[in-house]
Formats: sequence, structure tokens, C-alpha cells
Amino acid sequence: MRKLAAGNWKMNGTSDSLSEVVTLLAALPSPACDMLLCPPATLLARMAQLAQGTALQVGGQDCHAHAAGAHTGDISAAMLVDAGASHVIVGHSERRTDHHETDAQVLAKAAAAQVAGLVAVVCIGETEAQRDAGSTLDVIGAQIAGSVPEGSTAANLVLAYEPVWAIGTGRTPTIAEIAEVHAFVRARLTARIGAQAAGVRLLYGGSVKPSNAAEIFAVPHVDGALVGGASLKAVDFGAIVKALSLA
Ligand code: PEP
Repeated sequence: MRKLAAGNWKMNGTSDSLSEVVTLLAALPSPACDMLLCPPATLLARMAQLAQGTALQVGGQDCHAHAAGAHTGDISAAMLVDAGASHVIVGHSERRTDHHETDAQVLAKAAAAQVAGLVAVVCIGETEAQRDAGSTLDVIGAQIAGSVPEGSTAANLVLAYEPVWAIGTGRTPTIAEIAEVHAFVRARLTARIGAQAAGVRLLYGGSVKPSNAAEIFAVPHVDGALVGGASLKAVDFGAIVKALSLA
């Protein structure tokens, strides 16, 4: 399976930041893995124009579950497609926390994205308290059952395991902990969507940086990364893409 390096710019970036994309594409015109950047909505169409005809794909960071209507401030999956997106992140822990998104809402967003022709990048992950309580696998299992649309395929689903306590903190699980969760995720996804699960890219996310990328990418069932902070700079994201290309 072709691996995926995905970057989430979160609420960072203005027009000037697009120069990072130009630098990235100049350094890595044809990497041996897929490359995705999810900028804020204000930059999406311009980034998609820059990415046209290149190895870079562009995605949204969230979408509404409905196709259109009276939902001030929200963006539908079809609008993301119209702006040039191929993917959308749904259920990021910051949205689950800041906007109190439930598994059912995340599932509805993922399904809407897939209907619109987008790849849904569904995020799951335990909090620190849940890990300390020994309930990591229970939490992950429930999130897979609750957030992943039943008819998902290898072509329209990417699943990102992001321990909440590892996001933006510089802390990461041990290699053994990542291996345990990713093997579990593959098994639970197979129970949920069947044989298609074998081809779904499972990303690890949470403080991935150039210095730890190679050892994380060597873990079985880690098919790429979802990268926050280190995706903002072409030099760092490029180094992660290179590490994944070699994995
Ligand atoms: C993220 O936001 O999905 C993420 C993994 O962030 P960071 O890489 O900064 O920890």
C-alpha cells in the first residue's frame, strides 16, 4: 500500500505561508509516498491551485454533515470538493473537545464526506486519563465502532490514531504502545468494514517530527502520519515525507 504523510495546519497560516508549499514541492517533486496538506479553509483554494499537477493533495480540517443550509460558519463536503480538496479530517480531538463533537456526529461527517467524493480522515485517540486508567483499547474500539461509516473502503477512508496527550506536547507513546494500538485498530476495523480494512491507511499522529519519524514508520500497521506543528515548515514536513518514503 502507498503510505501517506498528512499535515494539519490547524488555525495557522496566511497567504505568506503558501511559500512553504512552493518550497516543499520544489524539494520533493515526486516522493515515494502520498502527500496531503490540510490548511485553514481560507487558504484551501489557493493551496489547491498551487498543488494542481503536483504530488501534493489538499484537504479540509472539518466539514458539516449536511450538504447545504442554514449553518453559519460551517463548510459542506461539496464545498471542499469545489475548492479543490480530495480529503477532509473529521473528528480531530481538538474538535471533539472544543466543539463537543460526538462519535455519532463524526460518523455523519465522515459519511457526508465520502458521499461527496472525499477521503475521510477519521481521527481517534485516548486521553491521558483514559490511558492511565488502562482503558485505551476500549476507548479506541468504541470510537471505531461509533465514528467509522460501515460502508467505508480503502479508497475513501484513512484512520488516524492520535493519542490526545501526545498532540502538540512533544510527548509520544513508546514504540510498543503504538504497535499495540495499531494492530488493534487494524483488527477492529476489519470487524467493522471487512476485507477493505487491509488497505486502509492507518496514520499515527501526535508529536511526529523529523527526529522520531523513522522509528515510528517502522512499526507494523503504521502506514503514515498525521502531522500538526511539524507540517507548517517545508523543511520539517519534507524530512518526514522523506523518512516515510524510505520506510
Ligand atoms: C495533530 O494536530 O493532528 C497533531 C498530531 O499535532 P502535532 O503533530 O503538533 O502533535
